[in-house]
Amino acid sequence: MAVATRCEGCGSELGPRLLTCPSCLRLVHARTLQRLAAEAEAATARQSLTEALGAWRQALDLLPTGTSQHAQVMARVEALSRQVDVSGGGAGVASAESKSSRAGMPKALAGLGAFGVALWKFKFVLLFLLGKGKLLLLGLTQASTLFSMLLAMGVYWREWGWVFAVGLVASIYVHEMGHVVAIRRFGMQASAPMFIPGLGAVVRLKQTPVDAREDARVGLAGPIWGGIAAVLIFAAALATGWKSLGAIAHAAAWLNLFNLLPIWQLDGGRGFRALARRQRWWAVAAVGAAWFLTHESLFVVLLAGGTFRALLTPAPEEGDTRTLVEYVGLVVVLGVVGWWAQQWTGTALAL
Ligand SMILES: [Zn+2]
Ligand SMILES: [Zn+2]
Repeated sequence: MAVATRCEGCGSELGPRLLTCPSCLRLVHARTLQRLAAEAEAATARQSLTEALGAWRQALDLLPTGTSQHAQVMARVEALSRQVDVSGGGAGVASAESKSSRAGMPKALAGLGAFGVALWKFKFVLLFLLGKGKLLLLGLTQASTLFSMLLAMGVYWREWGWVFAVGLVASIYVHEMGHVVAIRRFGMQASAPMFIPGLGAVVRLKQTPVDAREDARVGLAGPIWGGIAAVLIFAAALATGWKSLGAIAHAAAWLNLFNLLPIWQLDGGRGFRALARRQRWWAVAAVGAAWFLTHESLFVVLLAGGTFRALLTPAPEEGDTRTLVEYVGLVVVLGVVGWWAQQWTGTALAL
């Protein structure tokens, strides 16, 4: 709701989208900015990096670009984002938790020594997973997500039967939630996933990543989570001997591989932006090896896209090593699962 406001400095009327008063040059949102800065400082003091990043990013939206304040806040966001990369967003929270957990450990477990500590830690892993599970369900509560998901499921259902449809849509959902978790870890806001029948799903970013590295983390988080889902589904297929699970694992692996195509706004495209030219050739080499071993035509498409990006599009001087490791790891894991699941299922599924 845009209500016409008056400048607190000179009293002139302000348009709804103005960030600076045109008459006295005062910052329109000065008060909010002060509050956000205080929030960010307090969060930083608590070592709650994600929270601090969120506050600074909100401040960034209220500061006019090109001003020294904007540049200063931008620098803070960049620095904090790199810290989140190293520590995972809540270093302070986690270490405080483990400190207090050790103190509150039951005597019986403490007596078991290292094994007791491991058991006690396992409890926190479980709690962490449960927390993530809650987040997964959170996305489902959005009516638009649910509706678009059902629509996509309908299309797959008609094509391949309901077990396949439900499994594939669930794996796409996990992929999208990977993006959402990464976006939130960097203090940004994201829309709930929207499913596009036949294509997959998208999550819309409400803020801009601060650099190519952050964009790559957010981009590759989807295939990483989707890849883990594919591995688990295929493990379940091998354990139960249920062929439709194999078909789901195969389709899920190939869908995540397709998203690694390094062009457009696809996940792979966002990853490649953070890679130096030499690193791009390493990624191309990995894809080439995967093609040589599996003879899957999808790898030819990835090969063409990667070569194009390595040769013809601008690349940073210094690339991000972790992005390269993630990309190559994904090509290997998804390639193995996709190929193996196809052999095991015994069907050539055309996607
Ligand atoms: Zn004014
Ligand atoms: Zn994605």
